[in-house]
Amino acid sequence: MENLIKKVKKEHLLNKEELVELLSDNSINEKLFSAADEIRHECVGDEVHLRALIEFSNICKRNCFYCGLRAENKNAQRYRLTAEQIVETAKIAINKGYKTIVLQSGEDSFFSAERLADIIKKIKQCDVAVTLGVGELSFDDYKILKNAGADRFLLRIETTDENLYKKLHPNMSLNNRKQCLYNLKELGYETGTGCLVGLPEQTIDSLAEDILFFKELNADMIGIGPFIPHKDTPLGNAQSGDFTLALKVMALTRLMLPYINIPATTAMETLVPNGRNIALQSGANVVMPNMTAMDYRKKYEIYPDKVSVDYSTLKENLSKIGRIISKDKGNSKNRRDI
Ligand code: SAH
Ligand code: SF4
Repeated sequence: MENLIKKVKKEHLLNKEELVELLSDNSINEKLFSAADEIRHECVGDEVHLRALIEFSNICKRNCFYCGLRAENKNAQRYRLTAEQIVETAKIAINKGYKTIVLQSGEDSFFSAERLADIIKKIKQCDVAVTLGVGELSFDDYKILKNAGADRFLLRIETTDENLYKKLHPNMSLNNRKQCLYNLKELGYETGTGCLVGLPEQTIDSLAEDILFFKELNADMIGIGPFIPHKDTPLGNAQSGDFTLALKVMALTRLMLPYINIPATTAMETLVPNGRNIALQSGANVVMPNMTAMDYRKKYEIYPDKVSVDYSTLKENLSKIGRIISKDKGNSKNRRDI
């Protein structure tokens, strides 16, 4: 088992059987986490890149079984920020020193590509990177957004298990999700994907396949989140995902794709106290503080009890583990060849 860790540290490649072996054996966890931490230090350094997250609409036409924003959740109190509010929030973040603005929402058709493009152009008047997380759109819409100045896009594959994907995503398809990711890559976006860990019926085998998919896509960013049940969804009574397993998937992803950006996800910090710092010491190098105004933030309830962190607490926490806040945009080093 230790030889497998040595191998992936050097070659950044494992096959499915090897990934399954490492994911199934809990006696090597500490070694795996330190290997990922070493590779993180060597390949992307000790700087932590901060991304200002703006959750600009919780209106969603989809019905993902795990998510509190799903269209059929009648208990969700819906909101949509105006273009002015979005740009204003971005400016507040920029004045605080953030160099990346992440615009995230449900799949809200009100925000057509043209509407979003106008917002992106306004934010891009400042010297910042813009990341979008607005779900599945056509190639042409992704192109409009790219031309407006969007730099990066986050679209998790969620799970590469075709049957499970089908069960959890009514009227959606794994193939289309993959096509969207390839389209984003082709258009020159820094492309982020990732998966949920601990979905009902998800297997270790399929998590290994998820990691292989990240490698095949040559993703530039990967976000791994433990699944957290939300009571107003069909998975309301399911068990939470396992933090350690999510951490292992993340650590193996760092070892397989050494130069990418990996956030310590909010779901990790929500599930376990100090989860953020543990993730940052097991392969992660990004944190996404929430900048959404409080009234709305409470309503953007993808899962319950989502934690937030303020800048000064974060800075203090990071310095305790010997990490510093980056002052640049923190582009993915995965694309250093471009
Ligand atoms: N609508 C967009 C962006 C918002 S959802 C999209 O789907 O891409 C952002 C992410 O939240 C999703 O990719 C999913 O992985 C995560 N998420 C949704 N429900 C969750 C839950 N119950 N627990 C943990 N993460 C969840
Ligand atoms: Fe909508 Fe995204 Fe939630 Fe799915 S995960 S219901 S697309 S907000």
